[in-house]
Parts: sequence; structure tokens; C-alpha cells
Amino acid sequence: MHKYGLGVILPGTRRLDRWIRQGYVCVADRLPALAQRAGIDPAGLLATVQRTNDYAATGRDPDFHKGDAPVDRFNGDPAHRPNPCLGEIGQPPFVALRILPADAASSSGLPIDADGRVLDRAGRVVVGLYACGNDAASVMRGTYPGPGTTLGPAFVFAWRAALFAARRAASARAHPIEEKP
Ligand SMILES: Cc1cc2nc3c(=O)[nH]c(=O)nc-3n(C[C@H](O)[C@H](O)[C@H](O)COP(=O)(O)OP(=O)(O)OC[C@H]3O[C@@H](n4cnc5c(N)ncnc54)[C@H](O)[C@@H]3O)c2cc1C
Repeated sequence: MHKYGLGVILPGTRRLDRWIRQGYVCVADRLPALAQRAGIDPAGLLATVQRTNDYAATGRDPDFHKGDAPVDRFNGDPAHRPNPCLGEIGQPPFVALRILPADAASSSGLPIDADGRVLDRAGRVVVGLYACGNDAASVMRGTYPGPGTTLGPAFVFAWRAALFAARRAASARAHPIEEKP
């Protein structure tokens, strides 16, 4: 907790009272008590902690593959060995945080061209329809090479689409009869 923080709790935080009061984390000196406070099976927690500690010692995590991907290791602690993403759970007090799965981004969506114009099934431009961000198909084609994979292209294609739409509007004003897609 002090070294890495947890969720919205920043590294260096010493007093957890506020977070315990709000129900954000629960804390206990022993793992069975922690399981009881968190509302989970004590035997299951003990077995999981034991397994996690074995993985921390060997550096291999066959359950979740923590530290296998370069982006995971980049986000880990390079000073921690053998695996920068796996530490031993041994020092009380123990802290539990409830984690719920949610979407971070989308890797598929509407196909677009270099100006953010949406393309139909035949690859033709749908005039006047633009997409970027999660609405557009990812230029990363379903992979996640690293942080910025979604926000970077979202900014770039929003910018390009806005420029294109503005130029098209200006051209339509200047040449009302000749307007093209
Ligand atoms: C915890 C977390 C961490 C992330 N970290 C990173 C990161 O480090 N790097 C990175 O690149 N990406 C990151 N992402 C992903 C990135 O934030 C999203 O992919 C990106 O914000 C998507 O942008 P967007 O504009 O497509 O959609 P959104 O940001 O979701 O914007 C959609 C907007 O539309 C509004 N809206 C929805 N329905 C309606 C409606 N009917 N009428 C009017 N408005 C509506 C919503 O309120 C919202 O404001 C992270 C995401 C999460 C959740």
C-alpha cells in the first residue's frame, strides 16, 4: 500500500481510516478475518494467497499470466525480481479491494478512412458521417500494444475528421453546385 498505492489510494498513503469508513477497502491483521470482512470464502483466499506467493517466488503465473506481456512488465516495478508484476503477500495488515470488470475501450467499430469518414460494407464513403474513438474500428486491429492505444488515435481521427468536414463545408459554400463527397 505504501509503496504502490491501490486503486484510487495513492502511494505513500499511511492512514486508511477514510477509505475503510467509505467501504472502499477492508483491512485485517489475519487473512481469515480479511476474508470474513470482504465476504469471501476464507479457505479460498488462503489457498489463493499461497498460490500467488508460490508464483511470486518462481516469477511465473499460470493463472493470470501477470508479467508475461511486455506492457505488463512496463507497468510493473523494474526493481522487483524475478517478476516485476508479482509480489509476495506476507506482511500484515492485509488489505482487500473489491474489483469489478468493466470496459476500458473497444477494439472494433465502424470502418473509417484516413479522414475519419465512415465506410459502408463495400468500402464506399458514407457522405457526411464521421467516426472516431470507440465508435470507429481501432487502427490497432484488436491488439493493445500499450497505453494511449485508444486515446491517441481518437484525438488524431477527431482532428482529421473535423478538418475535413470544415474544408468540405467551406468548399460547399464557395462552390454550391459542384459539391462532391
Ligand atoms: C479506467 C480507464 C483507463 C483508461 N486508460 C487509458 C489509457 O491510459 N490510454 C488510452 O489511450 N486509453 C485509456 N482508456 C480508454 C479511453 O479512455 C477510451 O477509449 C476513450 O475515452 C474513448 O473515447 P470516446 O470519445 O470514444 O468515448 P467516451 O470517452 O466514452 O465518450 C462518449 C461520450 O458520449 C456520452 N454519451 C453517451 N451516450 C450519449 C447519449 N445518448 N447522448 C449524449 N451523450 C452520450 C458519454 O457520456 C461520454 O461523455 C481508459 C479507459 C478507462 C475506463
